[in-house]
Order: sequence, then C-alpha cells, then structure tokens
Amino acid sequence: MPKNNFESSAWTLGDLLPAHEGKEFEHILAELEQQVAQFEASRERLSPEISDTEFLDVMRLYEVIYATGARLIAYAQLWFSEDTQNQEAVGFMGRMEQLSAEMQNRTLFFSLWWKELDEEPAQRLLAVSGDYAYYLESMRRFKPYTLSEPEEKVINLKDVNGVSALVNLYEMITNRFSFKLEVDGEVKEMTRAELSQYARDPSPEVRAAAYQELYRVYSEQGTVLGQIYSNIVRDWASENVTLRGFDSPISVRNLGNDIPDPVAETLLNVCRENMPLFHRYFRLKARWLGVDKLRRYDVYAPLRTAERIYPFTEAVDLVLDSLTQFSPTLAGHARCVFADNHVDSEIRPGKRGGAFCYGVLPGLTPWVLANYVGKTDDVLTLAHELGHSVHALMAADHSTLTFHSALPLAETASVFSEMLMVDRLRDAERDPAVLRDLLVTVLDGAYATVARQAYFVLFEIEAHRRATAGATTDDLCALYLDNLREQFGDSVTLSDDFRWEWIAIPHIYEAPFYCYAYSFGQLLVLALYRQYKNDGKSFVPRYEKILAYGGSASPAHIVGEAGFDMASPDFWQGGFDVLQGLMDELEVLEA
Ligand SMILES: [Zn+2]
Repeated sequence: MPKNNFESSAWTLGDLLPAHEGKEFEHILAELEQQVAQFEASRERLSPEISDTEFLDVMRLYEVIYATGARLIAYAQLWFSEDTQNQEAVGFMGRMEQLSAEMQNRTLFFSLWWKELDEEPAQRLLAVSGDYAYYLESMRRFKPYTLSEPEEKVINLKDVNGVSALVNLYEMITNRFSFKLEVDGEVKEMTRAELSQYARDPSPEVRAAAYQELYRVYSEQGTVLGQIYSNIVRDWASENVTLRGFDSPISVRNLGNDIPDPVAETLLNVCRENMPLFHRYFRLKARWLGVDKLRRYDVYAPLRTAERIYPFTEAVDLVLDSLTQFSPTLAGHARCVFADNHVDSEIRPGKRGGAFCYGVLPGLTPWVLANYVGKTDDVLTLAHELGHSVHALMAADHSTLTFHSALPLAETASVFSEMLMVDRLRDAERDPAVLRDLLVTVLDGAYATVARQAYFVLFEIEAHRRATAGATTDDLCALYLDNLREQFGDSVTLSDDFRWEWIAIPHIYEAPFYCYAYSFGQLLVLALYRQYKNDGKSFVPRYEKILAYGGSASPAHIVGEAGFDMASPDFWQGGFDVLQGLMDELEVLEA
C-alpha cells in the first residue's frame, strides 16, 4: 500500500513568480529597476571609511537584488526545462538572461571595490558582516596573487587572443569531429555523445569499435591538439607560478575550491593506494562476462540480467522511508518538495532529459526535475535529487549569498541519500540478480567518479611538470599510457589507442585540475557514510550540522566543525572501506 500517494506529475512554478507577464510581473521588474538604481547611487558611499551600518545596508540591498534576479532566472530555466520546444518559454529566457547580464554589469562596481580594498578596512567590515563573511572573503581569496592593475589589464587583454583563443580552437576542432560506426550492418555517422553510448553496448565488438573510432578521429589531429595542450600548460605556469607566485600549478585550483594543498594531495594519494580494490572488481566483472581478462573497452560493459520496475508512488515512499530511518528532520524537508508540487517527474515530449534539483532561495522549497521510468537507476536518481533539496532546505537560515554549498560539498547530501537508498533497497531485496545489479551500479559509478577522475589529475600534475620542461606530444602520450598502466595494474588489457585518451578530455584543457573535485565530493560522502556505519545515531546531528552550514564557511571548516579531519588519510580511507564492503558482498553473490 502506498503510504504517501504522491503521483508522477508536472510541477507548478507559482511559488517562484505569480505570473510571467501582465501587471504583477511588470511591477516586479519595476521594483528591481528601482533597487538597482538605488544600489548604483550607493557607489559614492564606498570608501575605506564607510561605516559598519552603511556597509551592511549596501550588502542587504545587494542581496535583495540578487534574490529577485535568482527568482527570474530560475523561473525562466524551469519553464524552459518543462518544454524546450515552447517558443514563449525560449523568448522569456532570452529576455531574463539579458536583464540579468545588465543587472550584473550595473552592480559590478561593488565587487571590484571590495576586492581592491586594503586589508585593514576589509578586516573591520568582515568582522561585522555576519553571514555575508564567507561570501565576501571568497571574493578576496585571490588578492595575495593579484598583480598590479596595469599588469592585470595586460594579462586580460592578451588572454583574449592567447590562452582563451587556444581553448576556443580546441573546441572548434573537436566539436567538428564526426564518427562512423557500423550498427546493425549499417555504417552510421554520429557525434561523440552518440558514439559514447556504444561504450556500454552489450556486444564486445561494438564496444571495441566505438573506442577505436573515437581515438582514430582524435589521433588524426593528435599533434595539433597535443601542441595546443602544451601551450595552455606553459601559459598556466608562466602566469600562475612565475608571475603570481603560486607554489605549484595545482595550487591555483585548490585555492579556487578553498581546499588546502595538503588535503588535495592526501586525497589523490589515498585514491592511488586503493586501486587494488578496483583491480579486484574488474577481475570479478571479467568472470561474470565470461572472459579471462577485461579489455579497457569492457570496463563499462553491462551485466544486466534482472530488471525490477518501481512505480513512482513506491519510489517516493522508498525515498521518504530511507530518509526517515536516518533523520526525520531530513525526511520532513524531502516531503515538502512533493507536497508543494515542486517535482516534475513524468515523461513528456519536449521536456529536458536527465534530472536536476534547483534550489533558488533560502527557505523556498527547491524544484526537482526527473524523467521517471521506474528502473533502479531512476529510484537512485530520485533519492539523489531529493538529497540536494534537503541540503538547500537545511541551510535555510543563511543569506541568499551563502546558502548554496560550494563545489567540493555540493554533492554531499545527494550522494549520501543515494547511499541510504542503496541500503534500503539492498535490505529488502531477495533476488540476487537484482542485488548484483545494484552493487555493480555503485561500483561502476565509484570507478568513474572517484578513481578515473583522480587519475586524470595525477596525469595533469606530471604533464604540467614535463610540458613546461619541453616534453613533446609523443612524450605526453607515453606518460598517459604509464598513468593507465598504474591505474589498471594487470587487471585490464590496455591497447595502444588509449594513449590518445587525454587529448579527448575537454576538462584538462578548459579547467586544469578540475576533475579531482568529483573524486573529492564522492569520496567525502563515502567517508561520512562510513562514520555513520561506525557511530550510528550519534553521527546524525554532526551530519545535519554539515548540511546546515550551506556555503557559509570553507569546506575544511565545515567538515572540521562536524568533527572530521580532511587532512587525515584515515578519513578518506573510510570511504574506500565502504566500497570494500560492497565488493565483499559482490564476491559472496558470485559464490
Ligand atoms: Zn547532484
């Protein structure tokens, strides 16, 4: 019997805006215009001598403008997601984006002034800025590495035709690539996204052909793409290490994430030490697929033998149940999302694919989009997105500027509630085939998110060092193969075509060292989950504390306050212990 009876449906957006046209809507725009004009007028009050109260008045007005902008943009994006073919929604989104860009330009002077301000007045104002403090501190984080104004201007100007142009060229070249693959006896031309789906094809020949075609096309431009990479990397070093004075190339990214260098290093080391776990997993997977050894082509091969379908009402009950068992407070927040009719779960033509959660303002119930079919994956996705909603609602006491958690902690509640859901499904499951699929889903995900991403960054650290010292594209290819050999040990057969994999990863061109954020987020959650398994109920208030911080302090501070030490290898190892446990269960299932 369904307990809650929440049916699959579309959402309502009325809590965001009363209307998107007409008198009421025009009134909101007029009010926003008046607030921005008032903010512009406060420009002359900005000086090192500004009084505490005046400064706080400016901040409050800034927050109000930000909140109205957030509402308008959220409405536009959610409406568009409902039906991407709706011309009216497309038009509204264009109009709101333009408005938002104009508002940002007109209020930009504030952040420029704040970043420039000397240390002494800045510290005085930070001391009285309460919940705004971390937001304000974050804007000044790069100040010690900022050069003189003329130098910054030169860098900005030269970047447009320099490193930014290189990144654009990379995109222009690779976005034009088209791939050919024989499917059902017919050669089809496809994009990379289309081709990538065949990495999960049931046929071993199709999987191999898909990878071979991917790297055939990339390798044809290998020398050019490799050269572009070397230039980006050398520019990164000359600007950030030589001119700005960062300790190392990765320190730039760490500062952006507000993660201390040693913490990032510890994380990567622990990932490295735990690769034997994945080797074990790949060997087990090989046995299940009936082969001696997996090829790299087979890492994501599907095992699916069982398919269970969960009706939507049942999935909602499962999500709410799994949260209630953990913390009734969290479950109460999740229930609001359904009760307020903020979930769009049904399948409709024109609706955006995938799933997301959109938390707009503190205290305002977030919106969740899903395309619910009823597979185990869909249930986990629902748990994931509801976890995001819970996180946003737990942080409701913060300002609009600080309730959103920062990138390294952004996936905490979502992945944690997925883990609770895995537990819930596992405890109830009697069919070993369904259970196996569930555990395989978790381990496949952990390999792709934790291990693979960490190894991209390990490659980048070495590639930045060598490219700056004059390495060629061939040297970097060889380095990449070494990286893969370490990653897979002898558990997987590597073919030579994978030496080109690195030039096919846009992140390492566009945002160097970005990828460890994925490993960080996922492993952090697993580590927290391990603590929960150890400590039981006493863990719950500590976890709630982490969520309640939102984005109002640094990740290290938030996790530290809850009593955990991110600098300790043991903490991260706890995350791998959870995966180890799942692996043990899988091996028992095999017997
Ligand atoms: Zn997420």
